[in-house]
Amino acid sequence: MLRTDYHNHTARCGHAGGAMRDYLLAALGRGVTELAFTDHVPLYFLPGDDPGPGLAMTRAELPGYVAEVEALREEFAGRIDLLLGIEADYAEGFEEELKELLAPYPWDVVLGSVHCVAGDWIDAPGSGKRHGTEGSAALWSEYYRLIAKACGTGLFDVMSHFDLPKKFGHHRPAEVLGAEEAAVEAAAKAGVAIEVSSAGLRKTVAEIYPGPDLLRKLVTAGVPVVFSSDSHAPAESGWGLEKTLAAAREAGATSQLSFRRRVATAHPIDA
Ligand SMILES: [Zn+2]
Ligand SMILES: [Zn+2]
Repeated sequence: MLRTDYHNHTARCGHAGGAMRDYLLAALGRGVTELAFTDHVPLYFLPGDDPGPGLAMTRAELPGYVAEVEALREEFAGRIDLLLGIEADYAEGFEEELKELLAPYPWDVVLGSVHCVAGDWIDAPGSGKRHGTEGSAALWSEYYRLIAKACGTGLFDVMSHFDLPKKFGHHRPAEVLGAEEAAVEAAAKAGVAIEVSSAGLRKTVAEIYPGPDLLRKLVTAGVPVVFSSDSHAPAESGWGLEKTLAAAREAGATSQLSFRRRVATAHPIDA
């Protein structure tokens, strides 16, 4: 069976560590057959070459990132299928800038993420307190509004960590159900996939992204899935795959997607 990890970072982002080769070796050790490096896109919506040291690679580093993935793809050919991917923030109003930034490269897969909500990061260390100061419902509503809009842009193949605001343990308030359902509908309508990510298991919330109820809603709506670890260290690469596979099956998914040059094919998720 195809065993994938579609979300892996590299030291270039400034908050991940280890050599890219070691991510591949760790994933191989866990039986992963297909891995995408998806480092954080340069923060194209902020000015300067390096607007977010510690958050993302610089603009100048992007060609070297692509070249290293391509070299490793050759080196590991026959052992693991290595894909060229990127995790791209969605920044409302900067859609053209992102399109231009990504255009020169032969991406296999582009992940779409919303990390910045109402002018600040939703997942950075310490940002959990925003749920108290700004109101959890307000943050979650705005987050899902942006997710729904991002789905419809056509810029992204897979939406990352669909319920990210829960990271520090603040689950989606009941009154935000409508906004969540609108986001699910937007994903289904746009034909984007979502990731089933083990990363949430390593955070305060201790729950897969998306949680079981939301994952079932997405699968029921016909949204396809890929599997990911969101690794920021070699030891995390391929981590938790049995749990995310089980969660997807539990939610009713029978297939998973694989991407080449941004074209998806479906493969079974066997028992
Ligand atoms: Zn990161
Ligand atoms: Zn992310």
